[in-house]
Amino acid sequence: MEEEHLPDPKEYAAELKKIRFRRLLLWLVIGAYLPAMMVALDSPDYRKWATVVFVSWLVLLILTVGYACLARCPRCRELFHTHGPTFLPLRRCLHCALHITADKRPPENDHPRARFSKKR
Ligand SMILES: [Zn+2]
Repeated sequence: MEEEHLPDPKEYAAELKKIRFRRLLLWLVIGAYLPAMMVALDSPDYRKWATVVFVSWLVLLILTVGYACLARCPRCRELFHTHGPTFLPLRRCLHCALHITADKRPPENDHPRARFSKKR
């Protein structure tokens, strides 16, 4: 198998940190739904507050998914979590298989291929 020279993943640290932040934001918004809805349903005016919580959460979810979708991979410059119309918040780039923590882990000797790569 021919070896391909790949740059040191530590060069991508700043951009990978941004991608990790966007993912964290997404998971926080998803996780906030249940506690926020429980608080809303405990209030005396629960119909109004459940509607407010649901609509606010839905808007936040759309914004954070959009924010995470538009994260570019520092290695291949493609959208990290998006392949065509599909959003998959996996831990590897959908195009070049760069791991989300590639800057923190030792270099991979057996570089995995991207599952959804255009080049086959
Ligand atoms: Zn990539």
